[in-house]
Amino acid sequence: MKIDTLIFDMDGVITTEEKYWACARLTLWELVTQTLGASGTFGDPIHDPEAREAIAPDELIYALKGRAVNSNWDIAFVLACVYLSGLPDATVISAVDVPDFLEAIRDTMAGPSLWPQTLVDFLAETHGAKGKALTQEAGNRLRRTLDFSNEDLLRVSGPFWWYLHDRFQRFYSGEAMREYGGSPLLDGTAIPADQIEATLKKLRDGGYTLGAATGRPRSELDDALGGLGLLDYFDSRRLGTLDVVRQAEKKLGIVGLEKPHPFCLLHAIHPNTAPEILLDEEFQKTRRHNVVVVGDATSDVMMAKAAGCRAICVLTGVRGEAARQERLQLLVHAAAEAILDDITHVPDWLEGQV
Ligand SMILES: [Mg+2]
Repeated sequence: MKIDTLIFDMDGVITTEEKYWACARLTLWELVTQTLGASGTFGDPIHDPEAREAIAPDELIYALKGRAVNSNWDIAFVLACVYLSGLPDATVISAVDVPDFLEAIRDTMAGPSLWPQTLVDFLAETHGAKGKALTQEAGNRLRRTLDFSNEDLLRVSGPFWWYLHDRFQRFYSGEAMREYGGSPLLDGTAIPADQIEATLKKLRDGGYTLGAATGRPRSELDDALGGLGLLDYFDSRRLGTLDVVRQAEKKLGIVGLEKPHPFCLLHAIHPNTAPEILLDEEFQKTRRHNVVVVGDATSDVMMAKAAGCRAICVLTGVRGEAARQERLQLLVHAAAEAILDDITHVPDWLEGQV
């Protein structure tokens, strides 16, 4: 079967999650310095990227990701809850809503948190907890240290979580950055943007149809690729995003269609086919060796295989030699057909397949 379609994962392959991490960090900065008035903490992360990274060092974000805290809104929630849990003397007797809750903290706290040590301690104390359970543990830790009895306010997807979510999104959209006198944050790229563009151009000019299968919402995919001038290289019907996953889940009254489930990939391959058919097991198993998924993680390989596609991976999703070796082992184990340094090697690999 001749390869004619390439479906790309986004984060780690073309884009990076740096912008999301910056939003999580800035959400904590705003909460601590602007809302709670602990000025002087964290330097000037609006204008200085290094000060931004220092709010939550990359290793700690990787540690949270490694413990399956995948949602960047959950990352913001964990950072905020754990930071607040380290504020000396802070106590909340009662609070009916988030502003009330934060006012009580502001009135009782005796100084800044011992940070990021508090986060290091939290990760050690919760050894073994993962994903949503770990995220909830951050809320529980805060509740305990404040002597606060309201369980609802600090639950995952509860009022405080949504409060932080909304602040996060204001940084993501650029609104909050402008308010603080900074420039809107840009999406990072896995390799220099001109190399990505040259590769996509070569592939498109070579007759391949290009699509995406990503956990990002469509608007954020459009923003990221549009901002980088890369959107036109992709077939606009072949973008499998979080939106198509959520629509199908809602329509069919089910959950769990996110990656590694092959749904968003199948949608990208068959944009006009109804979700009921895409979910049919026999349909999913159809051999689709004309399609190659280009990913950076085990979940991409699992998704590709579940949809009868071929899968190759790149190593740009991780930073540092140790993390790279670890990722390489995982991808070998997942049986990716090829593991390339970055996407600039994809055209050569394709030539070798003819
Ligand atoms: Mg990825």
